[in-house]
Amino acid sequence: MRKYSWLKTITLYLFTISISTVACADEIIGQQQVFNNIDSLSAKQQKSIVALAVNNEILSLLTLSVYDKAAAQVKLLALQELPLTVNIAEQYLLYIVRANISDIEGQEHKVINWLNKAIKLEPLLTKKQLDTPLFSSAYLTLADIYARQGEGKKAYDTKRLYIKKYFAHLNHQKELSVKRLDEKYNIEKKHEENELLTQNSQIKHYALASAEAERSEQYLNIAIFIAAVSVFFLLLLRQFKISRALKLLAKTDSLTLLPNRGAFFSNGYNFMTRALLADKELSVLMLDIDNFKSINDNFGHDVGDSVICHVAALASETMRSRDFFARIGGEEFAAILPDASIEQAHAIAEHMREKIQDDISMYKNNKIRVTVSIGIVSIADVRESFDSLLHAADMAMYQAKINGRNQVCSFAKEKK
Ligand code: GH3
Ligand code: MG
Ligand code: MG
Repeated sequence: MRKYSWLKTITLYLFTISISTVACADEIIGQQQVFNNIDSLSAKQQKSIVALAVNNEILSLLTLSVYDKAAAQVKLLALQELPLTVNIAEQYLLYIVRANISDIEGQEHKVINWLNKAIKLEPLLTKKQLDTPLFSSAYLTLADIYARQGEGKKAYDTKRLYIKKYFAHLNHQKELSVKRLDEKYNIEKKHEENELLTQNSQIKHYALASAEAERSEQYLNIAIFIAAVSVFFLLLLRQFKISRALKLLAKTDSLTLLPNRGAFFSNGYNFMTRALLADKELSVLMLDIDNFKSINDNFGHDVGDSVICHVAALASETMRSRDFFARIGGEEFAAILPDASIEQAHAIAEHMREKIQDDISMYKNNKIRVTVSIGIVSIADVRESFDSLLHAADMAMYQAKINGRNQVCSFAKEKK
């Protein structure tokens, strides 16, 4: 009988062990599957200084565990199959999930067990994160469980803890809002300052640009002024050259380029006045081409022009540098001979006449020989005026024509 008694005791002991093992099976398996990492983590894990991130899958699982325990259990098992590494915060939430799933009438001790496991992780998490409703809900559930068990004191204390955490969370949210507002204000202030700086720099930029534009305008005005002055001076110079050319043209015979009748008279008055004032000699010579009309008639007007030019050139060659020789009519020329007595004037006129007489030139294949009649007069004989002096020379020249042309006649001689 004693032999059977100890066998019965051993059998009863083994049965008791097997029953308790089955009762805790889901806790142990779950703990091993989900917390494989946490066991190794807890050994080396240090307190986190920042709020840890939580996987969205775990967050949705937490929500699901409140409303649908069975679905949450399936999802939890599926999650365990994944090679998922969880951090302390996620582990905390997974304990809450397990507590929610275990929250069945009569199973309160399991809920308390899971929640206490979660609470044990608190030293590794930041207070700020633990105060959030996500984590502090563990205390609300715990308070509820204690209340259901009739543990009024524990329920009250736990609820107080929850409320304390909730207010701490609210305070933190408030601080966060204030901080955000401060940041926003600072950003706006910074923005305003930046805008002010930008405006200032823009004003400076505009001021610089306008100064630059003003300087450019000044340069442009100076350039325009210089250009206008240059153009003005160029026009003035051109005008001066034109008027000088016109004056010269007015005094020049266009065919022979000798001084013309007008120039001869204006110079003649001056020469005569100066000679009379200085009591110096002065003679005037008048020259007319003989029978010039027949040259025009026989060889044409062009040839006549060429003859006039040639005679002008020959006569000019016999002039002294101080003499003034001019063409005063069609084929008539006259010269003022300063410092020349009537004898000297006669010599000059004779030399001129001979030079012209001896010249035989070709005009359009025509050999033409021309002669000239010359009249001379000195201021020693005619002093009244230059006109009368010239008239006297003309009379002498006329006399030379009468006398047979190709000769020099002196007015004084004619008078005698
Ligand atoms: P005299 O010996 O008496 O001077 O005879 P003349 O033929 O030279 O005199 P007259 O006064 O009768 O003729 C002068 C001519 O000269 C008349 C005119 O047609 C001509 N004559 C005047 N000016 C020019 C000119 O510029 N060119 C040419 N080719 N002929 C001119
Ligand atoms: Mg004539
Ligand atoms: Mg003539």
